[in-house]
Amino acid sequence: MRIGQGVDVHAFAEGRGLMLGGVDVPHPRGLVGYSDADVLAHAIIDAILGAAGMGDIGGMFPSSDPRWRDARSIELLRLAYERVRGAGLSVVNVDATVVAQEPRLAPHIPAMRASIASALEIDVARVNVKATTTDGLGFTGSGEGIAALATVLLE
Ligand SMILES: [Zn+2]
Repeated sequence: MRIGQGVDVHAFAEGRGLMLGGVDVPHPRGLVGYSDADVLAHAIIDAILGAAGMGDIGGMFPSSDPRWRDARSIELLRLAYERVRGAGLSVVNVDATVVAQEPRLAPHIPAMRASIASALEIDVARVNVKATTTDGLGFTGSGEGIAALATVLLE
């Protein structure tokens, strides 16, 4: 068994779609990043790579490589996990938390879980996604951005 953690943060901006866990969440603002800035997918990628001892998302998908511009991060998750499976490891479970004051994410969590489980080709029961706010405190509370944390167990 090997455990890994991932943390990511992206800032909000006008004129961007909000992609979380491979799900297009309706919201007036989206997150800024080289790829689609899917903060949840990025945290899970880092947790998986961390558990496998394979570095991090920036090492596997460097922003200096034009292939990853506007990439769908749920596809990057699929690619990262392919590499991990190649080393003989597979996911036991994923637990993740999205920290956002808005939008309200509860209605979208089932779709996020399904999307992540599909990318990893595992049962949705092995993927948990939670959403929380910071009661208005800090950069997520003021609506400047969204943070995500993930823990993954591999066997
Ligand atoms: Zn990111």
